[in-house]
Amino acid sequence: MSDITLAFLALVFFNLIIRFWLYQRQAVSVIRHRSQVPEAFSTAIGLDDHQKAADYTVAKMRLGQIQLCVETVWLLVLTLGGGINSLYGWALDLMSADTPLLSGLVFLAMLGVASGVIDLPFAIYRQFGLETRFGFNRMTPVLFVTDLIRSTLVGALIALPILSLLMWLLQNAGPTTWIWAWLAWMGFNMLLLFLYPVLIAPLFNKFTPMPDSAHKAKLEALLNRCQFQASGLFVMDGSRRSAHANAYFTGFGRNRRIVLFDTLINQLTPDQLEAVLAHEIGHYQRKHLPKRLLTMSLISLALLWVLFQLLDAPWFYQGLGVQDANPATALALFSLAMPLCLLPLTPLSNALSRKHEYEADAYAAQSSEASELVHALVTMYRENAATLTPDSMYSLFHDSHPPAALRIAHLQSMQR
Ligand SMILES: [Zn+2]
Repeated sequence: MSDITLAFLALVFFNLIIRFWLYQRQAVSVIRHRSQVPEAFSTAIGLDDHQKAADYTVAKMRLGQIQLCVETVWLLVLTLGGGINSLYGWALDLMSADTPLLSGLVFLAMLGVASGVIDLPFAIYRQFGLETRFGFNRMTPVLFVTDLIRSTLVGALIALPILSLLMWLLQNAGPTTWIWAWLAWMGFNMLLLFLYPVLIAPLFNKFTPMPDSAHKAKLEALLNRCQFQASGLFVMDGSRRSAHANAYFTGFGRNRRIVLFDTLINQLTPDQLEAVLAHEIGHYQRKHLPKRLLTMSLISLALLWVLFQLLDAPWFYQGLGVQDANPATALALFSLAMPLCLLPLTPLSNALSRKHEYEADAYAAQSSEASELVHALVTMYRENAATLTPDSMYSLFHDSHPPAALRIAHLQSMQR
């Protein structure tokens, strides 16, 4: 066994152990605090709701552990187990040998479908086992299947052109082609950001202008106060699929829309909804999205450079068990192996995200009422069965939002 193979195996098991251990820590922490609602929440959240959140969190961690193990085995089957070699061989059999780009695309499509099939039982169990058991599922099996077909088609429509372009660039790579690949990648992602709200999201949900109500009057007053221009307030039929609630912005400049899940409007009072919207505006005013895009673009620049270096490195293919060295197998191997190396980026990216959440909360405390945001958050924790007692290590690693207790304490410190 080569040194590269050994290093790859070490990396695979390191990832497996770290992530499994974090799931375990989270489950243990939640179980340990299951019998008592934390002091700060004891008036707003009953023991029943607290225990439901604990059981829901533990069930998610267990499912995560099983899925992690299955995905690790699948990764090893594809690489050292020869899966990529077989898939690529089949793709060559299907296509004529003088169209490497086409056989490469067929190979990547087969790989995508096979990986999707491995994930499908988890998606089905998550929706109809886990979410149903805790009362969150609103999806019918028919809707699940239609969603699956629609998202596969949309995914193919998005992935195939950019993958073709990337493979063509890899095939004709010169010393600076990686920069062109990066420019194309960034352009493509920006295009998606523009197209998503207009073309893709409406395929899955209905967006209707928010009807006149006490909620709407509050929100419009807030938008005026913050001098925030938006092309409208829209209600999304999130309740078609799930009882979980959310709110977000889409679009750019004058075309940006505010989207509120119908479930959220039903859960919150007008004052609470105003505070939630103030938090979202805070993200915009502090330029969190452009900051995040800049970080992502620098990371993708580095990653594409690495990909173009690996293209002609025989040790990369051989060490990971792949016989055919070409742009398609390079892309496949790279997308499978790179996430293992990027593990340390997860906690860093989440730390940045938590910092942004605190900043948006501070903005909301200034332009709305901190106490209303606290009430809204407590309601959302309760209605979403989010745990109030996460493990500190798990939270540092995985949570994009600060733990409930810290977030509420931060808001209370800013109360007027
Ligand atoms: Zn936020």
